[in-house]
Amino acid sequence: MSSIPFIFQTPTFFKDALCKGAPQDWFFPEFSGNHRGIRQAKQLCSACSVSEECLAYGMNTKSSGVWGGITLDRGNNRRRKKSTNQQQKEETK
Ligand code: SF4
Repeated sequence: MSSIPFIFQTPTFFKDALCKGAPQDWFFPEFSGNHRGIRQAKQLCSACSVSEECLAYGMNTKSSGVWGGITLDRGNNRRRKKSTNQQQKEETK
């Protein structure tokens, strides 16, 4: 049995990932402070054969960054969270 927590192991789907070798800061802009690569990251994801597995992994591990073409914030879709917050603000007006 491995003593390494599963989040530090390379997920099996990653062997088919299109982003292998791509700059990490495209996918994790919150850590790098560089948000200019998000579009390139999402272009790669749109053509990636494992995007569904990738998104599920990002959500299940409560990860942040671009996973399966979606920007996650601790496992939640940032866009959905933002629109929900906007909807709540509009409802309280
Ligand atoms: S969906 Fe995007 S982040 Fe996920 S493995 Fe594919 S290219 Fe990489």
